[in-house]
Amino acid sequence: MRTYTKDITTEEGKSVELLGWVDTRRDHGKLIFIDLRDMSGKAQVVFLPSDKELHALAEKLRPEWVVKATGTVAKRPKGMENEKLPNGFHEVTATALEIITEAKTPPFDLGSDGREIGEEVRMKYRYLDLRRPRMRKNLRNRAKVNAFIREFLASKDFTEVETPYISKSTPEGARDYLVPSRVYPGNFYALPQSPQQYKQLLMVAGLERYFQIVRCFRDEDTRGDRQPEFTQLDLEMSFTNQEEVLELTEALMVEMVKGLYPKKTISRVPFPRMTYKEVMEKYNSDKPDMRKNKNDPNELAFLFIIDFPAFEWKENEKRWDAVHHPFTRPRVNNVEDFKEQFKKDPAAILADQYDLVLNGYEIGGGSIRIHDPALLEEVFEAMGNTREEVRSKFGHMLEAFEYGVPPHGGIASGLDRLVAILEDEPNIREVIAFPKTGDGRDLMMQAPSEVSQEQLKELHLKIEKNNGTKEKTNG
Ligand code: ASP
Repeated sequence: MRTYTKDITTEEGKSVELLGWVDTRRDHGKLIFIDLRDMSGKAQVVFLPSDKELHALAEKLRPEWVVKATGTVAKRPKGMENEKLPNGFHEVTATALEIITEAKTPPFDLGSDGREIGEEVRMKYRYLDLRRPRMRKNLRNRAKVNAFIREFLASKDFTEVETPYISKSTPEGARDYLVPSRVYPGNFYALPQSPQQYKQLLMVAGLERYFQIVRCFRDEDTRGDRQPEFTQLDLEMSFTNQEEVLELTEALMVEMVKGLYPKKTISRVPFPRMTYKEVMEKYNSDKPDMRKNKNDPNELAFLFIIDFPAFEWKENEKRWDAVHHPFTRPRVNNVEDFKEQFKKDPAAILADQYDLVLNGYEIGGGSIRIHDPALLEEVFEAMGNTREEVRSKFGHMLEAFEYGVPPHGGIASGLDRLVAILEDEPNIREVIAFPKTGDGRDLMMQAPSEVSQEQLKELHLKIEKNNGTKEKTNG
């Protein structure tokens, strides 16, 4: 039966079977040592010269070969211990060895933390890059964050619901990724920029407390370490208000840091709050870094920004647009009041809309929503949509709200950034298993890529030949 390397210390004197990769091989005179690595850690395996055949086989071993090593767990000889390693007082004296698969020499060092290696080559061989301990730790800890969130929210009566990825455009202010329909020529699905409309419809459905750890898709020009797809912790509540959403978010963050990152300290609890106006006047930024000591990786400075303006003027489009998204409720009494205030000064209308900032990054945002269909329609029109456009784009929301809609609101937090900060990573690509490069490519899978003429034909698509766009010829 297989033993994980992390468990050998409890098997002293017994025979164990280890499965994994050759991390390193060292020849010391007649003795051959390998560090055998599995998902749980490493163990030192010793091959003695007395068993000639076994010794000769061990001589062949190279880093990253996959092996099965059988042997007896023993205490390391005096003076050979390494107290810094979890298995530093033990080793396995080999009695048998099976080479399962051989490996080419990796294109880069897998033992280092990898920061010195060019990103292109790391991404091309991501499956090797992920073998480094730092990357595996990041992925495991990210999974722990997910598990913590699920347990925390389940204990507060939230239901995790999956919403569609192949859907319809949701206006979060970015460009949509479109998916052509084969069955309905000329029609397209859109990958959701967020589950915003679905979660609101789940409130109409009576779920009351929803959450989802969900992928969002936005076709924006890549800048910094933005990803075309990213993960949100998305949640929504009925019969709620701003205070409840902020308190829940704060409790989740505080408990998570306490439970999973006890070395980190949160600068201030309750999290400080500033209005949008205050923060802009004071810092000229709506995501100031509030850490007392910016060199301290263990300091977490959370900040809520509240009282955002509901609307902003889009000069290039010559229209007023929602600062957050059009479902956000402006602070008005009713439709008449809205019309009056919008006519007077759209920029002066505030909303129950909030952001969560951490160490200078916006890691979350949300709002209380419009649940009056008449007001929703009016707001859409105020933002430059005709009545017909509103009906065709958002008719389903307006109709749903005619069947008994509870007041509701929520928030979504960017999990990639949050985990990156908690793991002291400067870049979200370090906490995503298979990220795109800064310019939106998957170098390992070679995406985006051309598709065959047959595929295009089935989708009723033709690639137009013009400057820069090659006509498709493969297939
Ligand atoms: N859907 C919003 C976003 O992605 C979050 C929210 O309003 O709950 O920013």
